[in-house]
Amino acid sequence: MSYLSSLTRGVALAAALLPAALSAQAASSVYRAGQLNADQQLARSIYKELVEINTGVTTGNITTAAVAMAKRLREAGIPEADIFVGGPRPEKHNLVARIRGSRGAAAGKPLLLLAHIDVVEALKEDWSPEFDPFTFNEKDGYYYGRGTADDKAMAAIFVANVYRMKREGWVPERDIIIALTADEESGPFNGVDWLLKNHKEKVEAEWVINEGGGGTHRNGKVLFNTVQAAEKVTTNFTLQVTNAGGHSSVPRDDNAITQLADALAKVGRYQFPVQLSDITREFFSKSAAEEEPALGRAMRAIVANPRDASALRTLSADPRYNSMLRTTCVATELKGGHATNALPQLAEANINCRIYPTETAEQVRDSLRRVIADTGVKVLIRSQRPPSPATKLLDEVMGPIRQITKEMWGDIPVIPTMSTGATDSRFFRALGVPAYGVSGLFSDPAVDARAHGRDERMRVQSFYEGHEFLYRLTRALAGPRRPVSDQ
Ligand SMILES: [Zn+2]
Repeated sequence: MSYLSSLTRGVALAAALLPAALSAQAASSVYRAGQLNADQQLARSIYKELVEINTGVTTGNITTAAVAMAKRLREAGIPEADIFVGGPRPEKHNLVARIRGSRGAAAGKPLLLLAHIDVVEALKEDWSPEFDPFTFNEKDGYYYGRGTADDKAMAAIFVANVYRMKREGWVPERDIIIALTADEESGPFNGVDWLLKNHKEKVEAEWVINEGGGGTHRNGKVLFNTVQAAEKVTTNFTLQVTNAGGHSSVPRDDNAITQLADALAKVGRYQFPVQLSDITREFFSKSAAEEEPALGRAMRAIVANPRDASALRTLSADPRYNSMLRTTCVATELKGGHATNALPQLAEANINCRIYPTETAEQVRDSLRRVIADTGVKVLIRSQRPPSPATKLLDEVMGPIRQITKEMWGDIPVIPTMSTGATDSRFFRALGVPAYGVSGLFSDPAVDARAHGRDERMRVQSFYEGHEFLYRLTRALAGPRRPVSDQ
């Protein structure tokens, strides 16, 4: 995923100007430069191993990583019978492991810890000469390598934390499932989709913890933590117009390219109606204090009155917030005509829409049809994903997230977000299983937004803070429930 960084960049920049110096005492005691404890050394070695296995969608092999992590989990003490490695193709295997709770099903459905272990392709020649994307490198307080941020930090942390559970002798009440999966970034063999279709019982859960959220800091000063609880849904539409064509020396009024151009201009100008959900309402309320004053005022105003025209104008002018307020559709591809001297017989455009979680592809198609009704251009659904309703912000999950955030980083806000891009949480949300994007991994969007790009990295301190945060969160959610501060 990479949407979060762009989403929070503006917030982070503005918040950095505020005087709210927030205590990071608890978190800073988690990690001391150059003094890794045994748990941290182990986490680092698992992280390194995972990053150095190329799991790029076409050049890599995801099974190698799944098998390596299965070996680790066996070594940590998970019985063979509770480890599953499988997938639709030899190089696209997923790992699912189960840590048995003391009360089993009586404690409720399992907690699922989900991370994808495929990565976006990376070429050495595209990276700085000192780095190789598939060599784990540490430099100036950062770990470098493809997947260090997206999403091998979480995958390595989940595995490392099993060793810690075993070492501490902690047995959860409910089962914990760890699923490390294939083809989240791209590729036709999405591991979560495959598992839900072929081995649903292995990943059935009460709650899912996944990527998509993280904290934001600026120059080491923590600003806020986020929980991704919703995401927009991608659907592609084709605008299409056909015509009998003819000789270009005798043009007529009807012309496929002109009609399509007319329709595209109308779609380009059209704005879908504003929608607010519990999540975006809370996002805008809490982000308001972190944003620059004009945007902050507009955020408060829109929450108070979604029809406030002036606030709407201000927020809609910012592409990130505009996309959080409504369904968006944009032309992304175009083709038409077949000869320089012929009237075009076909003109087509792709319209890429990011649909608000409560809307359907058919509703958006009907809106587009209305918008271009007088152009003679057809609107067809080209490809669509199932709707992904927002996750409810349950107290039993949000409570521990807020409390652990407070313990580790002080009194910073925990902000729910709706991402405009996609994560694997959509598969669970489509089934009504609450999925939360939360990691405790803090980054500075101004300098760390490198997922999918060159010199991808993770701040060393952030990695160990995320390691600790996810351990505490796992304990809090899988029980036995006791005050997190006792742990
Ligand atoms: Zn990802």
